[in-house]
Amino acid sequence: MAVTSLRGEVTDLLSRLIRVDTTNPPGNETAAAELLREYLEANGVECALYSRVPERANLVARIRGVGEGPALLLLGHTDVVLAAAAEWSVAPFSGEVRDGEVWGRGALDMKGQVAANAVAIASLAREGFEPQGDLIFAATADEEVGDDFGLSWLCAEHPDAVRCDYSINEGGGERLVIGETVLYLCATAEKMSAPFRLRVHGRSGHAAMPGIADNALVKAARLIERLSAHRPEPQIQPEVEAFLRAVLGDVPAAGTAAHRARELDRSLAELVEPMLSTTLSPTMIAASQKRNVIPALCEIVVDCRLLPGQTPADAEPVIRSVLGSDVDYELEFLQAEGGTRSELATPLWAAVEAFVAETEPAARAVPLICTGFTDSHWLREAFGTVAYGFFPARVMPPDVASALIHSADERVPVADLELGVEWLRFAARTVLT
Ligand SMILES: [Zn+2]
Repeated sequence: MAVTSLRGEVTDLLSRLIRVDTTNPPGNETAAAELLREYLEANGVECALYSRVPERANLVARIRGVGEGPALLLLGHTDVVLAAAAEWSVAPFSGEVRDGEVWGRGALDMKGQVAANAVAIASLAREGFEPQGDLIFAATADEEVGDDFGLSWLCAEHPDAVRCDYSINEGGGERLVIGETVLYLCATAEKMSAPFRLRVHGRSGHAAMPGIADNALVKAARLIERLSAHRPEPQIQPEVEAFLRAVLGDVPAAGTAAHRARELDRSLAELVEPMLSTTLSPTMIAASQKRNVIPALCEIVVDCRLLPGQTPADAEPVIRSVLGSDVDYELEFLQAEGGTRSELATPLWAAVEAFVAETEPAARAVPLICTGFTDSHWLREAFGTVAYGFFPARVMPPDVASALIHSADERVPVADLELGVEWLRFAARTVLT
C-alpha cells in the first residue's frame, strides 16, 4: 500500500469514513464497517463482522498476542447524529479537507478517533508488531441512540470478541490551560444518567371557573421551583481530588471547591461543579391538551445525573425531601445508565501520563468524571475493564470542540488526528509489551 505518512493516511481514511452516511437513526453502520474491514485486511489485520441485523454491523479486528499479557481494545463507534445541511458551510458528508482540518459529521464524535484507531493498528501490523496480549480494534454501531445493536449487544452475545483488560475510548483528551498550568483531561469515570418522571395529580375543571378545580400544572410549578432551588451536597470523589490537586495545588473542602475553582477561572468552575454532586434539571413538562380545561395531571421529566457509585435508590429519599409532602405526586425513574469508574493506578494511566509528558513536557494528565456517559460502562460492567476516554487534542481548543460536537461545521485538525495516532501506537507499545 503506497502511503506517504500516517498523517496522510488517517486524513484520507477519515474523509472516506465521513462520506459513509451513518446517521443514527437508522445507522446503516455496515457500510462503515466494510470500508474499515477492507482497509484493515489490506494491511494484514484479521477482521470479523458481528451484527444483530445485517445493516448494523460491528467490526472487530485484532493482532493476536504472542504471550500471556493483557488485552487492549481501541474502541470507537461509527454512527453519528443527524446533520441539518442548511446550517453547514460544507456538505456535512463531504469529508472535505480545508485549511488543515477534515470537515464533516463525525469528525470529532467520533469517526476521527475511529480512523486513528484503524491507522494505529494497521501501521503496527505492517511493522510486524508482536504484542504480548491481543491488540483489539472495535468499530461499533449504535452508540448515539443505544438500542442494543452495538457494544452492549457484543458484550452480551459475543463476549470473547471484545473481552479486554484495558480500553481506550472517547470522552477525554481535551487540553485545558488554567493560568500557567496546562492539563490534558482523561475521563476515567462517568456519572450515571438517572432521569425521572413526576406525575402530579389535581382535579380537572373548566378553566373559566378555576375555583372548582385543582390545577395540577400550578402544583407542578411548586415542585419545579424546589428542584431548581436545591443545592445538592457536594462531595470530593477520588478523580476530583486528583484533578483539584493538579489545578489548585491542594484539595479544598467539598463545600468550597466550586468557589475556589471560580476564583481561578470561570470555565474551570463549569467543569468542576457537576463533578461534585448530583445534578437535577427539569427539562420536559406536559399538562392539559386544551386551553380551557384545567389539567388533573401534569407530568415533569427531570434530567438527573448521579456521581459514580450512587444509585437511584440512594438519590430518591433526597429528592423526595426536596419535593416536600404537600403536593400529591408519583416519582418514577426512567433509566439508570453509566455511573461506572476505573481505577487510577493502572499501567494505562501510566501510559497516559508518560505520553503527555513526552508530547508536552510542561503539561500534566488529570483524571475527569465525565458528566455524560459513553460505551465504556459496558466494558467495565461486563469484564471489569480499565476503560479511559482519552484522545488528545492539542490544536483545537476544548470550547471550540464542544460547540461543534452534535452541531454544524463539525471538523477536526489534521494535526490532532496525527497526535491521536501517535498516542494510540504509544499506548499499544507501552501496555502490550
Ligand atoms: Zn460519541
